[in-house]
This record gives sequence, structure tokens and C-alpha cells, in this order.
Amino acid sequence: MTGVPASGLAAVDDDALRAALDEAEVAPLLATVAYLTGDLLILQPQLRPDPMRMLEPDAGIEPEQQAEARALAFDALVRWRDRGGLPAAPPTPDALRAMLEFVVGGVPMDDYRDLFLEELGLDGADLRAPDWNKRDIAPDTPFTVLVIGAGMSGLLAAHRLREAGLDVVVVEKDRDVGGTWLENSYPGCRVDVANLFYSYSFAQRADWPQHFSKQATLLDYFRTCADELGLRPLIRFGTEVIAATFDDVRALWSVEVRTSDGASTTIEANALVSAVGQLNRPKLPDIAGRDTFAGPAFHSARWRHDVDLTAKRVAVIGTGASAAQLIPVIAEQVGELLVFQRTPNWLAPTPEYHDDVSQRQLWLFEHVPSFAQWNRFWLFWRNAEGMLPLVHADPEWQPQDRSVSLMNEMLRQMLSAYLEVEFADRPDLLAKVIPQYPPAAKRVIRDNGVWARTLKRDNVQLLTDSIAEITPTGILTADGVHHDVDVIVYGTGFEASRFLMPMRVSGRGGIDLHEQWDGDARAYLGVTIPDFPNLFCLYGPNTNIVINGSIIFFSECEVFYVQQCLRWLLESGHRAIDCRHDVHDAYNERIDAGNLARAWGVSDVNSWYKNEHGHVAQNWPFSLLEYWQQTRVVDPTDYTLL
Ligand code: NAP
Repeated sequence: MTGVPASGLAAVDDDALRAALDEAEVAPLLATVAYLTGDLLILQPQLRPDPMRMLEPDAGIEPEQQAEARALAFDALVRWRDRGGLPAAPPTPDALRAMLEFVVGGVPMDDYRDLFLEELGLDGADLRAPDWNKRDIAPDTPFTVLVIGAGMSGLLAAHRLREAGLDVVVVEKDRDVGGTWLENSYPGCRVDVANLFYSYSFAQRADWPQHFSKQATLLDYFRTCADELGLRPLIRFGTEVIAATFDDVRALWSVEVRTSDGASTTIEANALVSAVGQLNRPKLPDIAGRDTFAGPAFHSARWRHDVDLTAKRVAVIGTGASAAQLIPVIAEQVGELLVFQRTPNWLAPTPEYHDDVSQRQLWLFEHVPSFAQWNRFWLFWRNAEGMLPLVHADPEWQPQDRSVSLMNEMLRQMLSAYLEVEFADRPDLLAKVIPQYPPAAKRVIRDNGVWARTLKRDNVQLLTDSIAEITPTGILTADGVHHDVDVIVYGTGFEASRFLMPMRVSGRGGIDLHEQWDGDARAYLGVTIPDFPNLFCLYGPNTNIVINGSIIFFSECEVFYVQQCLRWLLESGHRAIDCRHDVHDAYNERIDAGNLARAWGVSDVNSWYKNEHGHVAQNWPFSLLEYWQQTRVVDPTDYTLL
């Protein structure tokens, strides 16, 4: 399961190609043509995107230039097809750099070249697969890795570590794979990172039905990966980890698990990989009277499909990413919907958010080799890495309560203008939905106009008075009004800062992980923790990304690092590695300083990015490139061998 299948242009007629090209994004299109033909002359400076206008729909490429680009691409592809449609020789490093730089509008790409060779798998190569196998370096050393969780990152870890020849056991509390995409089945649930990017580098698909697929499509993707990679036999479903204890004498993890029938057993493993996610344990708000409500009340991630909302009076508490997806859908079904908003969201205009990928685009992905991969790169840059300058805080910029730099202010004005247009006919709502904090201090929510349409419905009320109490029959707000409701939906997020809870984890000398962290989780590279040898976290502290990077990218970096750690350990002949305190502490000082210089660190708005100590324990503040570089190799001086 590697790369994107592309059937080629051999049997394709000119009209079909010309029509399909009308819907191609021209930056990745021209890079594709250069890649296929080896002719860099098509990468003309006047046809490339403007790096300062990447947020605009056409990235600054004017309509005439787009037409010119498509005409050039058409001619070049027809000539290429008629010559047999054979891919050019692999590009030289300079040629590849020129293609990458064209797509990003001229930003220097020297440092990114190897990253993108991995990310894109252009010639079908799986460059992140382990290039070693345990049988070659430690054939007689038994070594079992226990992976906790069979969601996106657990499946990935199981796959890669087994490829390296390690014995892998996965325990999963649920009855199936999929993690967040299994548990979140609320109406409207879908990914908000474009799917060509939100997918494994080694299992890319060219046939995503929607740009931002729905939950069922994502769940199907991870199920298919588990099946095709043969991972299910490794997984013990319905099995939850209760406690994990490191045995100093034997250098083994002893893991107490409970199966769904209530029985407890112990599994021993040489290494433990936590793949439990950050957004896994629902958080219910601490509101007086919450338990007194007499009707159905449930969290977005524990959707009660047995509760029929038709014609009911329903309250939704919270307006974060989950609620923003479910509210528009249930608004069409319920009798009345009361939306309790504490803090409004910035909305990122995304016209294609709910759209199917057009037949012409699907056709191009299927017939033009590498076009899907170049689009993946386009998304990587345009939706993630290229956005980082927008969230850097400028210490000279004052005041910092509404924006944190000139670029952040420009973004604020752009996003404000969008809201002003969307709510132009409803000044009462506009006043409630315009955020008073810098963009990206909280997660920016994708929108295609559905939020304004929903809030303007006759059966929807947006309430911004704080909630004083929940009563048996409804919700009392601070203005003294009691709102009768039949059902309460909590879109109130997750216990994101309580990493690895509720497991008990004991390291060297019996040190308790949660006592050590004291609510302020930290790790080295988000992966290893001093005094917890051979424990590796995926999506651990400070590995979340705020501005729409794909968390799959992070997990792939982490898993690459973990397998490198285990390789080094096995080659050393030792039994465990333990991160050095000084390395861990220096690393975290730098992360903290980085986060304090980002919009989410500067702002004091409510968000799950900060823990109870007010410390940003979730987010990675630097570039994706830097995380990739830091997880490429293990520095032996970072660890003690046991
Ligand atoms: P969230 O972002 O933490 O949002 C929780 C919401 O509940 C916020 O609006 C919050 O208000 C509100 N809230 C919490 N306690 C409250 C209280 N006591 N009274 C009133 N309101 C209260 O949670 P989420 O929406 O589940 O999203 C969490 C993360 O999951 C997202 O940021 C994203 O990373 C991920 N996610 C991704 C997708 C996707 O890819 N499609 C979808 C859903 C979620 P405040 O803002 O004032 O705190």
C-alpha cells in the first residue's frame, strides 16, 4: 500500500484532458508537468503563486495567468503522452528544489527537499520505512513492544515497528481500530485538514470523495489500512491499560490490563508506546447542578444515537471545533436549538469545506501521475507550514490582546471582514461572533458559510450569557433567565492536558508519572520522559499543531524516531534507554520560550492549549521542518543506556 496509483494518459483524449485541467490548481499542476517531463522551463516566474497571498483563493495567480498555465500544461502533457508517457529521469536535487520553490512562490526550499521526498513518495518509494531489521542486529534478544491504542498513531507504530522485526502487541480499549474516528460519530463530524494531507505518507489515496472527508470515510480508511497492513492479528480489542510499572531489575514494563469482561491480566514488554491521543477523554464542564438534569445529556464524543432530537428543544454547550460541526446539522432536525457560546471562534473561509472532490479533479488524480502528491505538498505549504509567520508574536507589537504582529493583524482584518460579510444583515449576531483575541490563539474553525446560515435560522438562538446552573429542566444563565430544554449536548472538549490519564504509570524507583508531572506534562521531543525508560509517547506533550498541520505528519516523525531509538538500543546491547534530565529540561525551556512567542502563548483567552498551570503543554511552536529534523536521528548523548 504505497503511493497513489495513476493510470497514465496513454488512452486519454485531448478534450477530456483539457476539460479536467480547467479545475486543476495551477501551482501543483506545473510542478507535476515539470516532474513528468523533466522540463523546468514551464516553471515560469509570472505563473507562480505569490507567497504573501497564499490565503487568497487563487494564491495571487491572476485568471489570465491561470489560463496561460493551463494551456502550457495541456500542450506539455499532450506532447509527453504522445512520446509514450514515460516519466522523466528522477529529478536532480536542484531540479526538485526548483519544483518545490515554484509551488511555494519562491521561498527557499533547500532544507525541505529530503522531507518532501519522504512526504510525497513520488516514485512510490516508502522512505520512512525502517532501514534495519532486528534479526540483523540482535537476533537472539527477545524484544516486545506494547502499543497502547489502535487509532491513527497506534496503527502506524505497530506497522513500522513490526517492519523493523520487533514483536508487537497492541491493546485497544475499543472494539475496533480508528481511535478518534471511531469514537466521534456526532452528526457532521469530519476532518478539518484536507485529506490529501491528512493521510499516511505510505498509504496515500487519490480518490478521497471529499476534500475534507466525513468521519465514516476516515474510519473506513483506518480500517482498510489495518486490514491491508495485516495489523488486526496484533491487536487485543476491548483491552484497557490500567497501570504500567517499570521493573528496574529486569528492565521490563509490566502492564496491567483489564478486558471488557472485567478480568485483569498482566502483559510484559521491553518497550511501551503510548498512542492514546490527546483528545480522547471527554471533559464535562464543572457547572453547578449538572447531574440534576432529568433529560438526556451527553458529550459530542459519546453521541447518543438512540436519542431522537426531532422537534426537541436542544441545548449545545460549547462552540469549539466539534460543536461547530454538529450544530449546523442538528439545527435542521431539532425543534429549537440553544447554542451556549462562551468564546467565539475565528472562522477560516473554506468554500470547498463540504464539497465533493469534482469528477474532473478525481480524473486528474487518477490519470496524471504524481499530481495528487504535488497537491499534497501544496496543501502542506499553503495550509500549514507557510502559515507559521502569521502566528509569530512580535514583542514590539502593542497592544497584543487582539493581534500579535503586523502579519497577525492583517490576518485578523481579513477574518473580521469575512465575519462582517457573513453577518452583514444581523448586526446583533455579528457583535457576538467577532472574537476579541488574536487569530490562532485558539483553533481557527473552517467555514463555508454554514455557521452564519445556521445562527440566522429561526429555530436557533445564540446565547452568550454565562451559565449559572443546570437544573432538572434546563439551563439558568447569569442574566436570571431559565431556558427549558429537553436534551443537553456537551461540546465541551477533552481533558487534553491530562496526558496518559487515567493510566497509572510508574517509572524507575517507583516514580509516579502523574505526581512528577503534577498536571504539567512535559517530555523530550514529546516522546521520552526522564526516569521512564523505554516509554515512548505519540502525540505527547507539545506535539499538537495549531494552524492546521496534519497530526499524521507528527506521528510519522515520532514513530520514525522511536524505531531509531530502538535500533540504537538493540545495537548497543543494553536493555533500556532513559532520557537525561538536563537534555529534557533544556529542550523544554526552548519549547516554552517558543510558545510564549506565538499567538496562543501570548493571549490569555480560554483554550485547551494551556493546562491548569497556564502553561502551553500541548503545542509545538516551531516549523514542521524543525520537528522532522529533530526526530531524524537519535543523539546518543541525549540518553543514558541501562
Ligand atoms: P474545544 O475546542 O475544547 O471546545 C470546547 C468548547 O466548550 C469551547 O467552546 C468552550 O468554550 C466550551 N466550554 C467548555 N467548558 C465550558 C463551560 N463550563 N461553559 C461554557 N462553555 C464551555 O473542544 P472540541 O470542540 O471538542 O475540539 C477540541 C479539538 O479537537 C479541536 O481544537 C481540534 O483540535 C480537534 N477537533 C478536530 C476536528 C476535526 O478535525 N474535524 C473536529 C473536532 C475537534 P471556551 O472556548 O470559552 O473555552
